[in-house]
Amino acid sequence: MSQNDLLFERAQRVIPGGVNSPVRAFRAVGGTPRFIARGEGAYIVDADGKRYIDYIGSWGPMILGHGHPAVIEAVQRAVTEGLSFGAPTEREIELAEEILQLVPSCEQVRLVSSGTEATMSAIRLARGATGRNKFIKFEGCYHGHTDALLVKAGSGLATFGHPTSAGVPEATAQHTLVLEYNNVQALEEAFALHGKELACVIVEPIAGNMNFVRASVPFMTRLRELCTESGALLVLDEVMTGFRVDLRSAQGHYADLIPGFKPDISVFGKVIGGGMPLAAFGASRDIMKHLAPLGGVYQAGTLSGNPVATACGLATLREIRKPGFFDALSARTRRLVDGLSAVAREQGIPFCADSQGGMFGFFLLPELPQNYTAVMRTDKEQFNRFFHAMLDAGVYLAPALYEAGFVSAAHTDADIDATLHAARDAFRQALR
Ligand code: PMP
Repeated sequence: MSQNDLLFERAQRVIPGGVNSPVRAFRAVGGTPRFIARGEGAYIVDADGKRYIDYIGSWGPMILGHGHPAVIEAVQRAVTEGLSFGAPTEREIELAEEILQLVPSCEQVRLVSSGTEATMSAIRLARGATGRNKFIKFEGCYHGHTDALLVKAGSGLATFGHPTSAGVPEATAQHTLVLEYNNVQALEEAFALHGKELACVIVEPIAGNMNFVRASVPFMTRLRELCTESGALLVLDEVMTGFRVDLRSAQGHYADLIPGFKPDISVFGKVIGGGMPLAAFGASRDIMKHLAPLGGVYQAGTLSGNPVATACGLATLREIRKPGFFDALSARTRRLVDGLSAVAREQGIPFCADSQGGMFGFFLLPELPQNYTAVMRTDKEQFNRFFHAMLDAGVYLAPALYEAGFVSAAHTDADIDATLHAARDAFRQALR
């Protein structure tokens, strides 16, 4: 038995499913999850000492790769100063200032410890600021595991959602309307019926929880217009895309495509913590004034703005804003997806791929899907064979076909070449 097998057996005795977050369990692809002993730049090393090129990067945060010297130094220094005070620190201001400089749609941010907490608080803020209860989310977008967000579509536009998880009361889901992503007509109809009751619409601008699906420009344009007309707030969930697809986040990219585009509330996580538990939500001063202690929307956290996490996040943001950082990261990620497409074509596999900044997705489908239903048309068995062939060859991809991938600044052209070499064989195996 391998060390990974032994650890998985031991883990399952004391932790439900052996993991502390379900996707890590390899349920979708089968097999034993790898227990990671350490990370080194673009690589992770498992309990059996096997090295992998890491395209998960802790599901997004590790944009500099593992163990970046500037990050390690900042964290080590912060640790010696103190782990947590439960009182304000200067570093929280520095991190807030750094975020606000890069994201002009926000005038203030509140720091929290996870993406789930940030989206939950953003929805509460939107409800508190508008005095309305209902909101829209989209099928295939994930915004963390708070009750009102674990909801799937009801039977029609007039009916609100049903819980996707046991333990969520129907009553909690009754204000959540779930629509198809990139469907402008459904959006028009929903606003016509419910526009004046909507507190907000929450959306992933590039959805990374159904692999990699961009919000189309007409969809995003109309969404912004409808929100403005009806007084609903547009909440961009940039937990994954923030400081990952562009230095200005996805909203900066969309502002290039849609003049004047900006969200009302933004949610960040992952990269802003650089691998430590840190997330944030931000908006104009006018919206943020509704938060306690200024306003009536309560929100708090013992470890919010933690001094070690903020040190890690600050060091990370200071690296990624260096000139040329995003150009190099984007080019390397493009090289990976273009290379995979070329290899797949050569093998006669239906395949397409896309990337923005350091985030990418690929599909064993002839064309890029626009919504969740289209993503799920992927041949799961074929994907699983491809995934395991890549894993055996030392390439660690997301263990589910509906997850995005991430390239870091530590990935070299040689790593991309090695990945493409592995993919040639893996495509052959996937076809069998
Ligand atoms: N929003 C998005 C877009 C996410 O991708 C995630 C997590 N993958 C979350 C929210 C929740 O973040 P966390 O896991 O830190 O709670």
